[in-house]
Amino acid sequence: EERAKVIDGKAIAQTIRNEIADEVRILSEKFHKVPGLAAVIVGDRKDSKTYVSMKGKACAEVGIYFLDLELPEDVSEDVVVEKVHFLNANPDVHGILVQLPLPKHINEERVLSEISIDKDVDGFHPLNIGKLAMKGRDPLFLPCTPKGCLELLSRSGISTKGKRAVVVGRSNIVGLPVALLLLKNDATVTIVHSHTKDPESIIREADIIIAAAGQPRMIKGDWIKPGAAVIDVGTNAVDDPSRKTGYRLVGDVNFEEAYKVAGWVTPVPGGVGPMTVAMLLRNTLESAKTKIVI
Ligand code: NAP
Repeated sequence: EERAKVIDGKAIAQTIRNEIADEVRILSEKFHKVPGLAAVIVGDRKDSKTYVSMKGKACAEVGIYFLDLELPEDVSEDVVVEKVHFLNANPDVHGILVQLPLPKHINEERVLSEISIDKDVDGFHPLNIGKLAMKGRDPLFLPCTPKGCLELLSRSGISTKGKRAVVVGRSNIVGLPVALLLLKNDATVTIVHSHTKDPESIIREADIIIAAAGQPRMIKGDWIKPGAAVIDVGTNAVDDPSRKTGYRLVGDVNFEEAYKVAGWVTPVPGGVGPMTVAMLLRNTLESAKTKIVI
């Protein structure tokens, strides 16, 4: 009986991190340049703090300088913008990320727009997203999770050209940019969202499924075309009393069912998650490389 190939995102991400570490070493030996990433975090959401500390550790591992700017929950929008400007002007910082979500009193759109586009390593600046959407234009940086999804496909030997791709979700950080990126890579793209009627019949047409709805195990085995590539971005905590923590993480895809019909499937955890961080490191390195003055 045939079974899907499980795409090992953790291993692929480690390979990429090793490649980055080598390049960082060469950059510092040849040009005495150390790539730098700054993270701005507002408030003390536990999940946001975990993400930022993961990014910090990943930077340390490959030799990227990491600057963590923690601001209190009640900080004003103007102060956040001021900090962003300060980082824009700091020559040791090649990448700036603002950890989302921001507290409600701060305008996310304004803050993200103030990041200098040539340091926008999260790729969320409207100019970078706009270029991603336009034919013949190339954004300076691609958003990390979408870029990680495409990297998983290409490193698994799956081409997107002429394929039918269905993206489930249309958020600014995953669904929309991954759909735009697939389109740029010559896939025929359909986006399914919360108002889509009969999503399963659309998903069943897909050669490539990118699941980013944040709905635990929503995509069943019989929604998947035999042999399709299934990239599961979903990271959902569900109760699991058998665990010490009381919860476990599941994707948007029913993995056991998908495993029986798909051609490829990514696990959760260990699929897209580690790729997101690897792509952030890659973007930071590329940014530092473009700023070498000889
Ligand atoms: P989000 O902002 O909540 O967006 C969810 C999207 O899914 C929305 O566009 C929503 O449609 C759509 N949706 C919700 N329920 C649906 C349904 N039943 N059928 C079809 N579409 C539905 O979430 P997000 O930030 O994009 O994240 C999506 C998932 O990816 C989450 O589980 C998140 O934890 C995970 N994630 C993982 C990584 C990683 O690195 N692995 C990174 C980011 C996010 P509407 O637009 O109509 O509301």
